[in-house]
Amino acid sequence: MEELKRLVLNQENEEDQVVSLSLRPESLSDFVGQPDLVNGLKIAIAAAQKRGEQLEHTLFSGPPGLGKTSLAHIIANEMNSHIVITSGPAIKRTGDFMAILTNLSKGDVLFIDEIHRLDKKAEEFLYPAMEDFKVDFIVDRDTPYAKTINFPLKSFTLIGATTRSGLLTTPLRSRFGIFYHLEFYNETDLAYIVTTSARKLNVEIDADAAIAMARRARGTPRIVNRLLRRCRDYAQVNAQKNHIDLKVVDEAMRALRIDIHGLDELDRRLLAIIKTQYNGGPVGLEALAATLNEETDTIEDVIEPYLLKAGFLRRTSRGRELTSMATDLLK
Ligand code: ADP
Repeated sequence: MEELKRLVLNQENEEDQVVSLSLRPESLSDFVGQPDLVNGLKIAIAAAQKRGEQLEHTLFSGPPGLGKTSLAHIIANEMNSHIVITSGPAIKRTGDFMAILTNLSKGDVLFIDEIHRLDKKAEEFLYPAMEDFKVDFIVDRDTPYAKTINFPLKSFTLIGATTRSGLLTTPLRSRFGIFYHLEFYNETDLAYIVTTSARKLNVEIDADAAIAMARRARGTPRIVNRLLRRCRDYAQVNAQKNHIDLKVVDEAMRALRIDIHGLDELDRRLLAIIKTQYNGGPVGLEALAATLNEETDTIEDVIEPYLLKAGFLRRTSRGRELTSMATDLLK
């Protein structure tokens, strides 16, 4: 069993990417949940198409795995346009950015993931591109001959995704016409997603097994799909069948040490550290990260949002605190 677990965890990243692509919803009607967002986007897309224009620049915020990248692909599909994908940290020089922007065709979608991590200069370069579809490029900078050259761009839609909209500067945020925050998904939506994914992966799944996975998925479609793949491995290798029932889910979750709330070892370690080393809190983020030996970003972006939402953790002005629910869990 240990071997299976190791094998499975090692494959996670690569497999995650390949399988995610095939499981990704392709149209707004395949996109489960987030009804306000879906309805709002449907109207905005239909209106843009009616006017023969590109969609307004759109910003999606929310924890990882909730569908931001999928939505960018869906918008490009629905608008019959191409999508160019980059990310904030990948744009290191304005020259690189210039090349991306000047190569866009009319109506293209430019998707910038982790847009809150865009370098300051690149961000300023983006302002006129978003507002007037032009870029200002300074030649012979730092010489008496310095001059600004204007390059016109084709009209495009910028789609930004961020796990931390609070870190976006006001000038950047105000240049997006459409802004949606993605919420964690409920169990019914996650059970529907996992059932649809199982069909795509050609594996049978019982309704109660789908719900059991949904319950442990931390409100996140990417996680429910990952649990599905782990359960499929478990069913095929240990139970010798292509059918996921409740027993398979329970055993696979036990092997992965994921509890009934969907919490894994890292979550439990974080809660246990606050309890034992900081007397239940409050504890500051930096101190917590140092004790846990994790990046502060990982805590804020990946671990903490669900612990807060599920009611295990509380954020106060003095730091993170355990709730009574967490104290009960750790007994
Ligand atoms: P993000 O960009 O927010 O990190 P992704 O768009 O990459 O998230 O979503 C991760 C995976 O979760 C996708 O590949 C897709 O399989 C699944 N997914 C996300 N949102 C939905 C949804 N609303 N309906 C169905 N599947 C979804």
